[in-house]
Amino acid sequence: MKRFDRGMGDARMLDPEFLQMLVCPACKGDLKHDSDAGTLECLRCRLRYRIKDEIPIMLVEEAERF
Ligand SMILES: [Zn+2]
Repeated sequence: MKRFDRGMGDARMLDPEFLQMLVCPACKGDLKHDSDAGTLECLRCRLRYRIKDEIPIMLVEEAERF
């Protein structure tokens, strides 16, 4: 698994442009990034995807409903 190391800044901060490219794997809709919780939410599917070690877990099976 490849990790990108930017060397500077907050290691927990994901690149906003990278996050904007992500879509919900279930409906291909936009995701709402919650940087405090470290999650991505699809309001349409009401699924919450976790971000683990800077890697969003974009799997419907791994998402939790809210
Ligand atoms: Zn969705």
